[in-house]
Order: sequence, then C-alpha cells, then structure tokens
Amino acid sequence: MNKKTYTLHTEDHDRNIFDSKYVYPVVSRRAGGLSLGVNLNTNNACNWQCIYCEIPNLTRGGPEPIDIDLLKDELNFWIDQIINSSFIQDNTPPDTTFADVALSGNGEPTAAPEFLNVLEIIIDCLKEFSLIDKIPVRLITNGSFISKKKECLNIINQHHGEIWFKIDAADEDSIKRINQVNLDPNSMINHLKICAEVCQTVIQTCFLKINQQLPTNDFLENYSRLIKPYEHIVKKIDLYSLARPSLQNNQDITIERLSFDELNNIKSILEKELTIKIDVFP
Ligand code: SF4
Repeated sequence: MNKKTYTLHTEDHDRNIFDSKYVYPVVSRRAGGLSLGVNLNTNNACNWQCIYCEIPNLTRGGPEPIDIDLLKDELNFWIDQIINSSFIQDNTPPDTTFADVALSGNGEPTAAPEFLNVLEIIIDCLKEFSLIDKIPVRLITNGSFISKKKECLNIINQHHGEIWFKIDAADEDSIKRINQVNLDPNSMINHLKICAEVCQTVIQTCFLKINQQLPTNDFLENYSRLIKPYEHIVKKIDLYSLARPSLQNNQDITIERLSFDELNNIKSILEKELTIKIDVFP
C-alpha cells in the first residue's frame, strides 16, 4: 500500500511551500496540530543567532517594514482555507486539527515596531471567523523586547493566548555559546517573570549534544537554580532537541540531536530539583 506523503509534516517547516510572504501553515509537534505561523521577520534577521536555528541565511538585526495590508489579506486567506476548505484534510496527516495562530517566524517577532498592530489584526481576524477564544494566539519569543510589549501581553492574555519563552541555558557562558548573545541570566529571568505574571507562559528549552557532549550536571544545575524561584508562575517546560537540521555555519562546533531517551534522562535529573510539569518532545 502506498503511504501518502503530506505537504505539511513536522520534519519540514519550510515557510515557502505556499506562495505567501507573512503567513504560513505548518504542522507543529509542540502546538499539537496545524499552526498558522505569522512571520514578521521576512528578511531572516534576528537579534540572537542560536547555533541550532533553522532559518536559512540568518543575519543579525531586526525586521524590515511590514506590509500590513498584505499580511491582513494573507491571514484572511489562510484562515478561510483552513476552516472553509479541505486544506487540512488534503495537506496534513490524519486527525490534524487547527491548533493556533503563532507569532513566530524567521527572527524575533517582538522586534517589529508593528507588533501591536499585527496582534490586533490577528485578534480581529479570529473574531471575524468566530474563532476568538477558541483558537489561541501563541507568541514564540526570546523575550528580549518583552518589557516594552506589556500592552501586547495583556491582549494575548485577554484572549487566553500563550507565550512560549525560550531558555536554552542559564549561565552567561552557555547562553553566549548556544544563543550567541551577551545576556545576563538575571535579565533573561526577569523577562520571563514579566511574561508569566501576565500570560500563561511555557518555557521552551532546546537541549543539544555540543561537540559530542551532553549537557553536563553543572549546566543542568544552573538551569534548575535559575528557574526554581519562578516555577509556580510558569505553566510548564517543553524540552526538545533539534527537529530539523540547523542551517547555521557553526565554526568549531558540532551539534547533534538528543535521543528521546537522553531527553527523558535530562527530564529526570531536572525533576529532582523542579516540581513544574516537564513535557519532552522527541
Ligand atoms: S531566537 Fe529563534 S529565530 Fe532567533 S536565532 Fe534563535 S532560534 Fe533563530
């Protein structure tokens, strides 16, 4: 029997399969279904340069100006496709459902000056299709600009949305190595606190084997120690590893995907210190 190959699956998050500039559907493991992504960084520029980033030709910087009318048209088009046509049935594995509208994309979305405007457009669009408070808005962020986006956090919270907040390491040297940014862990955790006090917030952590070495006990102890004081205000931690090959040219560093067993082993180590729920995504 021939196995059907679906256009969209979790191993391929190519934003360019369909002819859209800003809005793109993907099947997401962590969202648990079809995620309609809104990419505000069409120039592939981010203020971080994570060694595992899947963005092709990633450059350091901020987004280019956004064509708001085009973004609005694309959003309407895709939501209409998803709920009023056989798009999901024709392009995704069986039993896939519409999971969220995700502000993610090829860089840090909150770096866009138009971020609030875009968020309001998404909310209006979900209202028009009677999906408001049924389909959540998720913001996938490295948290860098979050202290300037409190109004946006309130809007996301009002509509039962969620923040996915990236923390891959908890000491300055490891953050520098993995996210390639100079960042004080206290500043990072303060950004997490700002999010989690307003919105449902999930920590997103990508663990890797770097130069054939698993995260060390010291690394994991630092991680637990940083998060511990805030675990009561965070919904959960999602642990995962490379899902798709990194598209970065990491000189002098090799990175490899952790196996499901290795991730589960790390989960057990963390659970000795943390009581927060931890989900592992293979
Ligand atoms: S924060 Fe996200 S988009 Fe930016 S470099 Fe890291 S993985 Fe890539």
